[in-house]
Amino acid sequence: MNKRDYYEVLGVDKNASDDEIKSAFRRLAKKYHPDVSKEPDAAEKFKEAQEAYAVLSDPNRRKQYDQFGHAAFNGGASSGGFNGAGFDFSDFDFSDIFGDIFGGGFGFNFGGFGGGSRRNRATKGRDHVIGMNLTFDEAVYGTTKTIKLDLMDTCDECDGKGGKGEEKCSRCHGSGTIEAEQHTILGTYITKTTCPECSGKGVTYKDTCSKCRGKGQIKKTKEYDVKIPAGVDTGNQLRMFGKGEAGLNGGPNGDIYIEFNVSNHPLFKRDEDDIYLEVPVTITEAILGTKKEVPTLYGNVNLVIPAGSQSEDKHRLKGKGVENTSTRRKGDMYVILKVITPTKLSREQKKLLESLNKTDLDNSIEFKKYNEYLRKNK
Ligand SMILES: [Zn+2]
Ligand SMILES: [Zn+2]
Repeated sequence: MNKRDYYEVLGVDKNASDDEIKSAFRRLAKKYHPDVSKEPDAAEKFKEAQEAYAVLSDPNRRKQYDQFGHAAFNGGASSGGFNGAGFDFSDFDFSDIFGDIFGGGFGFNFGGFGGGSRRNRATKGRDHVIGMNLTFDEAVYGTTKTIKLDLMDTCDECDGKGGKGEEKCSRCHGSGTIEAEQHTILGTYITKTTCPECSGKGVTYKDTCSKCRGKGQIKKTKEYDVKIPAGVDTGNQLRMFGKGEAGLNGGPNGDIYIEFNVSNHPLFKRDEDDIYLEVPVTITEAILGTKKEVPTLYGNVNLVIPAGSQSEDKHRLKGKGVENTSTRRKGDMYVILKVITPTKLSREQKKLLESLNKTDLDNSIEFKKYNEYLRKNK
C-alpha cells in the first residue's frame, strides 16, 4: 500500500510553520477522532493524521522525512523497517494537543497513543532498544546477526489471561468499569472508574495462574536472526516490528530497535554514503604522473595520477561509495592524494635533489604571487 505524503495528509505545504502544522492537525483530530466522528473511515484517517503530526511537529523527524520520505522511518528491510530516526509513534505524547481540543481530562481510548488512563485499555508491549557493534565491512555490505534477549512474553500456561476458570466479574458485572456518584457544589456527577476487582478486564479467574502469578506474561529468552541491510551507519536504528514485549489486553507487541555502532576502517573514511581514501604518492609520482592501484569497496581499480599533481588533489570515483539504505543508490568515493616528502635520503639521492634545486622550480603562479609580495614588503 502506498503511504500518503505527510504534508498531504495534514493538508499543508512543505514550508508550513510549526503553528500551521499544529492547527492543521487539530482540525483533523476534531474531525476524525473515533470517539466523536461519524465518518466511516475516521479511525484510519485519525491514525494517519496522528502519524503525520508526530513526524512533522518534531524538527529532527521532519528533517529526516524531508530528506528520505517514508523510508526514513520504515523503508524496505525485510526484518521490519529500516529506521533512520529511531522512534515509535506510540511513544509520542499527544496529550497536550488533545487536552487543547477536548478540554482536558478526556477519557477516551486512542489505542496506545498517549495520555489515556484506563487500566484495561489495549496497551502496546514495551519496546526494546539494543546496541549492536558492526565492523565497517558488515555495515557497508550488510550481514545477518543473531540477537538474543530476555523479554516479557505472553504466558503460555494461561494464554495471557492470568488464570483459569473465567467468571464474569461480580463487582462490575463484566463491564470493567464501575459508576460512582460524585457530589460537588455544582451538582452530582456520575463518574466511571476502572473496576478494582478485575482491573477493568470484566472477568475474574477461579485459579490464578501459578506460572505468571496472574500477570499473564512471563520472561522468555528470544533469539532472532536479523538481516542487516547494506549501508547502515553508526546511530542508525533498525526496527523489528512487533518483536518486542507482548502487549496487554489485546494490545500489539512492542518493537525491537537495534542501534548500530560501526567500527572504523583502517583506510577508508566514511561520510554518509561517500567514502574518502587518502592515497600516498611519492614526490616523483606527483611531479611526473603515474598509474596507481587503488582499493575500493568493490575491488581494486587503476587510477591515473596526472603529471603535476598536488597534495590534497581529489579524484572522484562515481558510484564507488556506500549503498544508501533507502534509495539503494551508491554514493561516491573520493581519492585524496597525499604527497609524501621523503625524510630519509641516501647520500646519492641527496646529491640528485640538490642538483635539481639549482634548476628553476618556482615558476608556478603560487610562487610568483608569493615572491612578488615578499619583494614589495621589504
Ligand atoms: Zn470488575
Ligand atoms: Zn499465566
